[in-house]
Amino acid sequence: MIDAHMHAFPERLMSAIYKWFQNNREWDIPYHGWNADRLFDYQNEQGYDRYFVLLYVHKSGMAKDLNDWLAAMVKQTPKIVPVGCVHHEDDVEGETERCLGDLGFAGMKLHCAVQNITMDDKRLDPLYKTLIRYNRPLVVHAGTAPVDYTGKVGFAYFARTMDRFPELRVQVAHLGLYESEQFFQLAEQLPGVVFDTAAINPASLEESVSQEQLKDWITRYSDRILFGSDLPFLNGWATDVRSLIDGLNLEDAVLQKVYAENARQFWNM
Ligand SMILES: [Zn+2]
Repeated sequence: MIDAHMHAFPERLMSAIYKWFQNNREWDIPYHGWNADRLFDYQNEQGYDRYFVLLYVHKSGMAKDLNDWLAAMVKQTPKIVPVGCVHHEDDVEGETERCLGDLGFAGMKLHCAVQNITMDDKRLDPLYKTLIRYNRPLVVHAGTAPVDYTGKVGFAYFARTMDRFPELRVQVAHLGLYESEQFFQLAEQLPGVVFDTAAINPASLEESVSQEQLKDWITRYSDRILFGSDLPFLNGWATDVRSLIDGLNLEDAVLQKVYAENARQFWNM
């Protein structure tokens, strides 16, 4: 079992993010206050062989320390698959290069809402070009789910970016909600685009997705969908996401792909 989408940060930043969710989202995060080590123990108890830790930055000058912190975490917790961050006002090429080269990260994460930047902003070109050069994936929060509070996310920005960088390998978070059909259709022309299920528990979403719809998407794109929980930033338990998928009566072969094989294949594990 692989969780292809979770978050962890140094303790002070982690506390600040929990508070942000409490003040801005009124979410009831059951993991509120849990630090990175506690989250990793929890993932081990849940039976994950590997878990992708995705960083992100909201202001310039922070990425380097965060990436160094994650590199140190990997040494003590080898089940972590590290996915680094870079801020568009920093040396994008230099920090991406350092993450993929010296630090040996699996890929990079871009959070368009937190960073308050559209995906097609030219300042991100060095991020995409460096990822392509290393043939490593980007995990992107490009869609409008769970909540679009910046107006900087959405399918149109993603499509424009992929038009310029069609060879970029991308894991689109949250199944591309709330414009999933458009994301999936474009992905049919782009073999390097996959999706994760992070935070698709109903309590975290503003627009509901029916079980029939979810089952249809996962069946149709069974080679392209990776399980991700979004631990710990969820309105509810990470296990709710798993229960939702388990409750869809999918074939075992499909579940096997979603819970492990697709991640192994896409991330060359
Ligand atoms: Zn996330």
